Amino acid sequence: MKKDMEKKQGAPFGKGRRVAASPESRAKREEEAKAEIIASWEPKTKLGQEVKKGKIKNIDEILNDNKKILEFEIVDSLIDTKSDLISIGQSKGKFGGGKRRAWRQTQRKTKEGNVPSFSTLAVVGNRQGYVGIGAGKAKETLPARDKAIRKAKLNIFKVKRNCSAFDCDCLKPHTIPFKIIGKSGSVRVVLIPAPQGTGLVVAKELKKVLELAGVQDVYSKTFGKQRTTFNLVKACINALKQTTQREDMK
Ligand SMILES: [Zn+2]
Repeated sequence: MKKDMEKKQGAPFGKGRRVAASPESRAKREEEAKAEIIASWEPKTKLGQEVKKGKIKNIDEILNDNKKILEFEIVDSLIDTKSDLISIGQSKGKFGGGKRRAWRQTQRKTKEGNVPSFSTLAVVGNRQGYVGIGAGKAKETLPARDKAIRKAKLNIFKVKRNCSAFDCDCLKPHTIPFKIIGKSGSVRVVLIPAPQGTGLVVAKELKKVLELAGVQDVYSKTFGKQRTTFNLVKACINALKQTTQREDMK
């Protein structure tokens, strides 16, 4: 009798126990899926054909000439990007409480009833000086996300990075080269170079943008109506664009 009990207790892991896929195997799967998409890609633009043929090997050749990227596969062929979603959704619950979401849900009223749709804002970047944002809208969340990510890739641009120099001498490209100001709507974002180890002293949603851009240390100030996350992120993007634009003027 006693033996039976021990036997039962000794087998805590039943057949139903499932082994979760490791992050490594998931990353590998995504890598393979991406390679497949690029392999089966039939470019529709001249720029796309040049990339597919291997005539263009560096994304700078496209960005320095201010050429418009119309196919997201161009970006996927040349750099390895990661993506994140910006929380633009309304907070649930009364009195502004609750968590902000990545999805903004809207309703279109028809004779048959309400047709919901979802929009989201994606940021993509390679964590090494290239970043872009894009908005996507669809009847369901996943297609909206995919659309936003594809658009963000088309909007990718280069961010010039540097060591802050005056109070740091690591010589690594960990911050922005000079103070920059970006505007969108009523929002203004000021980004200021910072020494290594400072981290990102910015609003939470801007952290996602700067991390994907490959900026690790920065101080910031923001002015205006910051609850409009879209304008806050756009202002940050407009500021980052100046890291290369201002150098062109020299
Ligand atoms: Zn440094």
